[in-house]
Amino acid sequence: MHTFVSIVIPMHNEAPVLSTLEARLNDVLKTLNIPVEIICVDDGSHDDTWAGLLAWQQRDPRLHLVRLSRNFGHEAAILAGLKQSKGDAIITMDADLQDPPELIPALLSEWEKGFEVVYAVREDRSVDTWLKRVTSDYFYKILNRLSTLDVPGNTAEYRLMSRRVVHILLSMPEKNSFVRMMTRWVGFSQTTIGYKREPRAAGVTKYNVWKLWNYALDAITGFSHLPLRIWSYVGIVISFSAFLYALVIIAMYFFVGRETPGYASLMVAVLFLGGIQLICLGIIGEYLGRVFMEVKGRPMYIVAETREGFAVKEEIHGP
Ligand code: UDP
Ligand code: MG
Repeated sequence: MHTFVSIVIPMHNEAPVLSTLEARLNDVLKTLNIPVEIICVDDGSHDDTWAGLLAWQQRDPRLHLVRLSRNFGHEAAILAGLKQSKGDAIITMDADLQDPPELIPALLSEWEKGFEVVYAVREDRSVDTWLKRVTSDYFYKILNRLSTLDVPGNTAEYRLMSRRVVHILLSMPEKNSFVRMMTRWVGFSQTTIGYKREPRAAGVTKYNVWKLWNYALDAITGFSHLPLRIWSYVGIVISFSAFLYALVIIAMYFFVGRETPGYASLMVAVLFLGGIQLICLGIIGEYLGRVFMEVKGRPMYIVAETREGFAVKEEIHGP
């Protein structure tokens, strides 16, 4: 089979890891006897990432470089890379070597068995903080409940996708896609393989709690309407309880003749309902804001320049 593999790596200020990444990737690719392109997407780095990539390309013509006009975020950078990819199988991975390149042969062999999506699942996450592990576990539990997609937990962006799956992903009009979920949503035969999450090779994480929170909101609003719909049911329950309570008050007035207690119960009811209404409005706002983003139809990223690897073309198309 004449196969060609693309490896897509998003990078934001990753200059310190480039040399280790190059060495580790080369060691793995040497053992694989297939043509490869390595697509590195510079997602608006402020450090020497782009210069480092240009130097790497001089040593390795399999590199295909894409520079975005500013920082558009991890997912957008991945999509920019996917858009440029030409492989029959496309592997996405982080630059920081937390996703070990040594797993690439295993990903490929699952693909050769016929799987169209192969997720690399972090079986050992001892390098991540306790808080990150727990929140991520719950996040996937909630997400899977809400979306009924059953996305494997403990996955990052390390996975292999077939050309067909990538083609479908890229043809979706959504601007706010949570790539990990979209890949699941597409369907076809999918599988997972386990690996041990390694510590970052160098540099620092680009995520903070606020970014992760918004990421989680994107995922939930993108794949579930339950947060919008649930309020009608909450409303029904509250109205029904209020009706019962009204009957109790009336009954007490006639049979016991006691004055209804006023201030405290009134205050509690007002604050409780006010709070619920604000939460509900906020949730509508989350969805509305995303609808607004989609309607504007702005692109998810803007490419500033690309430097195609000069060896790739001859390798695929032959002399
Ligand atoms: N990244 C990116 N754009 C961003 C943030 C991150 O391209 O705005 C890249 C980053 O360079 C790395 C990957 O996404 O290759 C994962 O980021 P990071 O390692 O900081 O996340 P963590 O592993 O800590 O969740
Ligand atoms: Mg990382």
